[in-house]
Amino acid sequence: MFSLSSGACRHLIVFDLEWNQSSYNPNHRMPHEIIEIGACRVDRDYHVVDTFSRLIQPRLYKRLDKHIKKVTGMTEEELAGGQPFDCVFADFIAWCGGDAQLVTWGRDDFPVLRRNAAFHQCPMPFEPPIDAQLVFGSACLGSLAQQMNLHAAMEHQNIVLEVPAHRAVYDAQCTAALLASIDKAVLAMPEDRRAQLHATIEKEARIASSVLLSLPTRHVYQTDALADERLMNIACPKCGRRTAFDTPWFDSGREKYMALSRCPQHGMALGQMHFKRAQSGALVMHQRVYAASEQEIDDVRERYRLYQLTPPRKRHHRLNMEDAVAKMGAKPNE
Ligand SMILES: [Zn+2]
Repeated sequence: MFSLSSGACRHLIVFDLEWNQSSYNPNHRMPHEIIEIGACRVDRDYHVVDTFSRLIQPRLYKRLDKHIKKVTGMTEEELAGGQPFDCVFADFIAWCGGDAQLVTWGRDDFPVLRRNAAFHQCPMPFEPPIDAQLVFGSACLGSLAQQMNLHAAMEHQNIVLEVPAHRAVYDAQCTAALLASIDKAVLAMPEDRRAQLHATIEKEARIASSVLLSLPTRHVYQTDALADERLMNIACPKCGRRTAFDTPWFDSGREKYMALSRCPQHGMALGQMHFKRAQSGALVMHQRVYAASEQEIDDVRERYRLYQLTPPRKRHHRLNMEDAVAKMGAKPNE
């Protein structure tokens, strides 16, 4: 049994996704569209006992992004022969069975899976996965800050698997091939470092359950967007209801904003937000909200205290402002 999996679950399911996107015309409800789900089931000795590999017919982005085409070697014709997301995802859930502990390499796949499921109005029965890349860094490279890509990690552990790279199921198999040595390294860690790793895994799971929002706004200036009360509301990540600010949105550095807001039922939520500019010149707000730990609450309050001591003129920077104003033809106070 993988020492890092929680409880007495029966299977470890290692999964990997390939997705496509459009840099010209992204849909903010689903900026990354999954085109393939690959997975393998491993037994207690980390042997692969079954695999799952399915292509998904895209609904939003029918042309493959040039880079993704190159990396995966997939073609539009191949994808057109895939099945719709809701069918493939339902089959995947059934294939996983109950009590599955998911494992991925890296932290990106799960939020993309959640967003795709929400877009297609599919149920999402999975808890956040264990990020094997994070565990590998901590246990095999000696630091939580160390990150290695999957194939470098294979090389590092002297594991050779004769499979073509960058197809979802093969990447899942590579990750599975690393689990035994990762687990061995975890068990050899000193107690305090293992506790630290567990705390980080717990935090990553909370972040992976974040509510993610990408909302196009009509604003050119961040200060206007920040003054837009409806836009700045934080919904409770557990119940979706409106929360009351404990610490308002403030610039925590480099135009990344933070806030704390309380749900009377579920406690404090931590919000993180930044803006990007759409082709039109208007700002797109990207927000992430998740349940805050006691330590995070203290940390954000302390940052806010320091922020209030910072002279206002140093607080706001301008984000390609001249370009945006020229594009929108907007006046500063509009
Ligand atoms: Zn709530």
